[in-house]
Amino acid sequence: MRPDRNQPVDASVVPRFGDIPTFMRLPHTRHADGLDIALVGVPWDGGTTNRAGARHGPREIRNQSSLMRKVHHVSRLAPYDLAQVADLGDCPVNPIDLMDSLARIERFYRTIHQAGALPLSAGGDHLITLPIMRAIASDRPVGMVHFDAHSDTNDRYFGDNPYTHGTPFRRAVEEGLLDPRRTVQIGIRGSIYGAGDMAFAEESGMRVIYMEEFTATGPEQVIREARRVVGDGPTYVSFDVDGLDPAFAPGTGTPEIGGMTTREAQEVVRGLQGLDLVGGDVVEVAPPFDPSGNTALVGATFMFEILCLIADRVARNRG
Ligand code: MN
Ligand code: MN
Repeated sequence: MRPDRNQPVDASVVPRFGDIPTFMRLPHTRHADGLDIALVGVPWDGGTTNRAGARHGPREIRNQSSLMRKVHHVSRLAPYDLAQVADLGDCPVNPIDLMDSLARIERFYRTIHQAGALPLSAGGDHLITLPIMRAIASDRPVGMVHFDAHSDTNDRYFGDNPYTHGTPFRRAVEEGLLDPRRTVQIGIRGSIYGAGDMAFAEESGMRVIYMEEFTATGPEQVIREARRVVGDGPTYVSFDVDGLDPAFAPGTGTPEIGGMTTREAQEVVRGLQGLDLVGGDVVEVAPPFDPSGNTALVGATFMFEILCLIADRVARNRG
């Protein structure tokens, strides 16, 4: 154990059911200075088009994250020895103003980026990824490994509104934040509004791995394909829990049956070790639809999985 790095509260001193539930039981700080990785909640679902509730995600994910321990049982990565990590609290948002929220989120993540820390976030709905990318990808576009039932590359909703949780990655490509040829979407499925809904993703060069292909080829092949697509460049991991089957993650706003098992998704996430990861998020956990708390546990667990990968990247870059 590195005494100079933040460690979770010792469960043999204060048991897991006790104390204040920060992410992973890490110290809470208001400043990203000195951090390698900042864990952030974004309690905002103003981009949700149907069943709202993801604004409550960060608090429940924090609560369930007290079940996470310190070492990954497969990779044996120990993220708190590899990197300085803390819970940076929740990002300021405005629950009654979408545009103001996008500005606030971008501003908050700029301070993280300027401090040299990599953000790992708990949403919130999927629109939060757009202002996060505005903050961390304005100097060069990033690639993305995107787990989701939905492509989130629609254009407009409700007339001419360009910003919902169904549009962030079209906007991110248009704004030069996201390189579509270095983007892989995994688990896409479900009915769509129109036959042309996938045209933007496919024509812009995103690699769309529909759930049917995932099932036919299996996680190992999906890992190979994801690594081929994103290559060596800076890459963001965005994990929408509705990419999982609702049997495993029912507490979300837009469930689609026929999705990945938690095991399959864990296998793919673990297969991303060694990529140049510059941040990540777990979004669309909606506690009002999650009476058992299991979806928040799933969200906390995938946060830990992604944290291990980013911490490994931090340690490798340090040399
Ligand atoms: Mn999504
Ligand atoms: Mn989705």
